[in-house]
Amino acid sequence: MRLVLLGPPGAGKGTQAKELSARLGIPAISTGDIFRANVGQGTPLGLQAKTYMDAGEYVPDAVTNAMVKDRIAQPDCTGGFLLDGYPRTLAQVAELDAMLAERGERLDAVLELTADTDEVVQRLLGRAAVEGRADDTEDVIRRRLEVYAEQTAPLARVYADRGLLRRVDGMGAVAEVTSRLVGALHSA
Ligand code: AMP
Repeated sequence: MRLVLLGPPGAGKGTQAKELSARLGIPAISTGDIFRANVGQGTPLGLQAKTYMDAGEYVPDAVTNAMVKDRIAQPDCTGGFLLDGYPRTLAQVAELDAMLAERGERLDAVLELTADTDEVVQRLLGRAAVEGRADDTEDVIRRRLEVYAEQTAPLARVYADRGLLRRVDGMGAVAEVTSRLVGALHSA
Protein backbone atom coordinates (compact mmCIF):
# COMPACT_ATOMS: atom_id res chain seq x y z
CA MET A 1 0.00 0.00 0.00
CA ARG A 2 1.13 3.52 -0.78
CA LEU A 3 -0.40 5.98 1.61
CA VAL A 4 -0.23 9.64 2.54
CA LEU A 5 -1.07 10.93 6.00
CA LEU A 6 -2.31 14.54 6.04
CA GLY A 7 -3.21 16.69 9.01
CA PRO A 8 -2.16 19.80 10.94
CA PRO A 9 0.87 19.85 13.23
CA GLY A 10 -0.07 18.21 16.51
CA ALA A 11 -2.86 16.05 15.06
CA GLY A 12 -0.90 12.91 15.93
CA LYS A 13 0.44 12.04 12.47
CA GLY A 14 3.81 10.84 13.74
CA THR A 15 2.32 8.54 16.37
CA GLN A 16 -0.30 7.14 14.00
CA ALA A 17 2.23 6.72 11.19
CA LYS A 18 4.28 4.44 13.46
CA GLU A 19 1.20 2.42 14.45
CA LEU A 20 0.06 1.99 10.84
CA SER A 21 3.58 1.20 9.68
CA ALA A 22 3.80 -1.67 12.19
CA ARG A 23 0.36 -3.01 11.29
CA LEU A 24 0.76 -2.78 7.54
CA GLY A 25 4.44 -3.75 7.37
CA ILE A 26 5.43 -0.71 5.34
CA PRO A 27 7.95 1.98 6.29
CA ALA A 28 6.64 5.27 7.68
CA ILE A 29 8.55 8.11 6.07
CA SER A 30 8.46 11.36 7.99
CA THR A 31 10.06 14.26 6.15
CA GLY A 32 10.13 16.19 9.45
CA ASP A 33 12.09 13.35 11.13
CA ILE A 34 14.53 13.14 8.23
CA PHE A 35 15.08 16.91 8.38
CA ARG A 36 15.54 16.81 12.16
CA ALA A 37 18.06 13.96 11.89
CA ASN A 38 20.02 15.98 9.33
CA VAL A 39 19.91 19.10 11.48
CA GLY A 40 21.13 17.01 14.44
CA GLN A 41 24.04 15.65 12.42
CA GLY A 42 24.86 19.03 10.92
CA THR A 43 24.73 17.75 7.31
CA PRO A 44 24.48 20.21 4.39
CA LEU A 45 20.80 19.24 4.03
CA GLY A 46 20.28 19.95 7.73
CA LEU A 47 21.96 23.34 7.46
CA GLN A 48 19.69 24.20 4.52
CA ALA A 49 16.54 23.12 6.36
CA LYS A 50 17.17 24.51 9.83
CA THR A 51 16.37 28.21 9.30
CA TYR A 52 13.02 27.36 7.73
CA MET A 53 12.11 24.82 10.38
CA ASP A 54 13.00 27.11 13.27
CA ALA A 55 10.70 29.77 11.81
CA GLY A 56 7.80 27.35 11.25
CA GLU A 57 8.11 27.78 7.47
CA TYR A 58 8.33 25.03 4.88
CA VAL A 59 11.68 23.92 3.54
CA PRO A 60 11.82 24.78 -0.21
CA ASP A 61 10.10 22.23 -2.47
CA ALA A 62 13.20 21.44 -4.50
CA VAL A 63 15.10 20.33 -1.39
CA THR A 64 12.19 18.34 0.01
CA ASN A 65 11.24 16.66 -3.26
CA ALA A 66 14.78 15.45 -3.94
CA MET A 67 14.98 14.00 -0.45
CA VAL A 68 11.69 12.09 -0.81
CA LYS A 69 12.62 10.82 -4.26
CA ASP A 70 15.80 9.33 -2.81
CA ARG A 71 14.01 7.85 0.16
CA ILE A 72 11.26 6.06 -1.78
CA ALA A 73 13.89 4.59 -4.09
CA GLN A 74 15.31 2.61 -1.14
CA PRO A 75 14.66 -1.15 -1.24
CA ASP A 76 12.37 -1.15 1.82
CA CYS A 77 9.83 0.91 -0.16
CA THR A 78 9.22 -1.59 -2.95
CA GLY A 79 6.21 -3.08 -1.10
CA GLY A 80 4.75 0.31 -0.27
CA PHE A 81 5.19 3.18 2.17
CA LEU A 82 3.36 5.64 4.31
CA LEU A 83 4.30 9.28 3.80
CA ASP A 84 3.94 11.39 6.94
CA GLY A 85 4.25 15.12 6.31
CA TYR A 86 4.70 14.94 2.55
CA PRO A 87 3.31 16.26 0.25
CA ARG A 88 2.58 19.60 1.93
CA THR A 89 2.25 21.93 -1.07
CA LEU A 90 0.46 21.66 -4.41
CA ALA A 91 3.86 21.64 -6.12
CA GLN A 92 4.86 18.65 -3.98
CA VAL A 93 1.65 16.87 -5.02
CA ALA A 94 2.62 17.31 -8.67
CA GLU A 95 6.15 16.13 -7.97
CA LEU A 96 4.95 13.05 -6.07
CA ASP A 97 2.60 12.25 -8.97
CA ALA A 98 5.58 12.40 -11.33
CA MET A 99 7.78 10.25 -9.06
CA LEU A 100 5.09 7.59 -8.76
CA ALA A 101 4.27 7.66 -12.48
CA GLU A 102 7.94 7.13 -13.25
CA ARG A 103 7.90 4.07 -11.00
CA GLY A 104 4.62 2.78 -12.42
CA GLU A 105 2.95 3.20 -9.04
CA ARG A 106 0.03 5.13 -7.60
CA LEU A 107 -1.36 6.12 -4.22
CA ASP A 108 -3.97 3.85 -2.66
CA ALA A 109 -5.36 6.35 -0.17
CA VAL A 110 -4.79 9.67 1.57
CA LEU A 111 -5.75 9.69 5.24
CA GLU A 112 -6.50 13.09 6.73
CA LEU A 113 -6.34 13.35 10.51
CA THR A 114 -8.56 16.18 11.69
CA ALA A 115 -7.99 18.01 14.97
CA ASP A 116 -9.38 20.87 16.98
CA THR A 117 -7.05 23.92 16.85
CA ASP A 118 -7.03 24.66 20.60
CA GLU A 119 -6.33 21.01 21.35
CA VAL A 120 -3.52 20.98 18.81
CA VAL A 121 -1.85 24.07 20.32
CA GLN A 122 -2.06 22.53 23.80
CA ARG A 123 -0.58 19.26 22.54
CA LEU A 124 2.29 21.02 20.79
CA LEU A 125 3.08 23.15 23.84
CA GLY A 126 3.06 19.97 25.94
CA ARG A 127 5.38 18.28 23.47
CA ALA A 128 7.70 21.32 23.53
CA ALA A 129 8.10 20.89 27.27
CA VAL A 130 8.95 17.20 26.87
CA GLU A 131 11.00 17.06 23.67
CA GLY A 132 12.36 20.59 23.51
CA ARG A 133 11.78 20.94 19.77
CA ALA A 134 12.98 24.34 18.57
CA ASP A 135 9.82 24.76 16.46
CA ASP A 136 7.42 24.12 19.35
CA THR A 137 7.39 27.62 20.86
CA GLU A 138 3.99 29.33 20.90
CA ASP A 139 4.73 31.87 18.14
CA VAL A 140 6.25 29.25 15.86
CA ILE A 141 3.35 26.86 16.55
CA ARG A 142 0.88 29.56 15.46
CA ARG A 143 2.92 30.18 12.32
CA ARG A 144 3.06 26.43 11.55
CA LEU A 145 -0.72 26.23 11.84
CA GLU A 146 -1.12 29.25 9.53
CA VAL A 147 1.26 27.77 6.97
CA TYR A 148 -0.67 24.50 7.14
CA ALA A 149 -4.00 26.26 6.57
CA GLU A 150 -2.62 28.27 3.64
CA GLN A 151 -0.45 25.73 1.89
CA THR A 152 -1.42 22.21 2.96
CA ALA A 153 -5.14 22.21 3.80
CA PRO A 154 -5.97 22.72 0.08
CA LEU A 155 -4.38 19.33 -0.68
CA ALA A 156 -7.34 17.56 0.93
CA ARG A 157 -9.56 18.96 -1.80
CA VAL A 158 -7.24 17.76 -4.54
CA TYR A 159 -7.15 14.22 -3.19
CA ALA A 160 -10.90 14.25 -2.47
CA ASP A 161 -11.49 15.07 -6.14
CA ARG A 162 -9.44 12.00 -7.02
CA GLY A 163 -11.56 9.86 -4.69
CA LEU A 164 -8.53 9.07 -2.51
CA LEU A 165 -9.28 11.09 0.63
CA ARG A 166 -10.43 9.45 3.87
CA ARG A 167 -11.06 11.93 6.70
CA VAL A 168 -10.55 10.58 10.21
CA ASP A 169 -11.16 12.25 13.58
CA GLY A 170 -7.73 12.50 15.22
CA MET A 171 -9.03 13.33 18.70
CA GLY A 172 -9.19 10.67 21.41
CA ALA A 173 -6.95 7.84 22.60
CA VAL A 174 -4.15 6.67 20.31
CA ALA A 175 -5.59 3.15 19.90
CA GLU A 176 -9.04 4.54 19.12
CA VAL A 177 -7.66 6.79 16.38
CA THR A 178 -5.61 3.90 14.96
CA SER A 179 -8.78 1.77 14.74
CA ARG A 180 -10.54 4.59 12.90
CA LEU A 181 -7.68 4.86 10.43
CA VAL A 182 -7.62 1.11 9.81
CA GLY A 183 -11.39 1.18 9.35
CA ALA A 184 -11.07 4.01 6.85
CA LEU A 185 -8.47 2.01 4.91
CA HIS A 186 -10.72 -1.02 4.74
CA SER A 187 -13.45 1.08 3.20
CA ALA A 188 -10.90 2.52 0.72
P1 AMP B 1 6.87 17.85 10.96
O1 AMP B 1 7.69 17.09 11.93
O2 AMP B 1 6.25 16.99 9.91
O3 AMP B 1 5.87 18.77 11.61
O4 AMP B 1 7.89 18.80 10.17
C1 AMP B 1 8.68 19.75 10.86
C2 AMP B 1 9.19 20.82 9.90
O5 AMP B 1 9.96 20.22 8.86
C3 AMP B 1 8.11 21.59 9.17
O6 AMP B 1 7.57 22.63 9.94
C4 AMP B 1 8.88 22.09 7.95
O7 AMP B 1 9.74 23.15 8.29
C5 AMP B 1 9.75 20.88 7.63
N1 AMP B 1 9.04 19.97 6.71
C6 AMP B 1 8.63 18.70 6.96
N2 AMP B 1 8.01 18.17 5.89
C7 AMP B 1 8.04 19.12 4.93
C8 AMP B 1 7.55 19.21 3.59
N3 AMP B 1 6.89 18.18 3.03
N4 AMP B 1 7.77 20.35 2.91
C9 AMP B 1 8.44 21.38 3.45
N5 AMP B 1 8.89 21.38 4.70
C10 AMP B 1 8.70 20.27 5.45
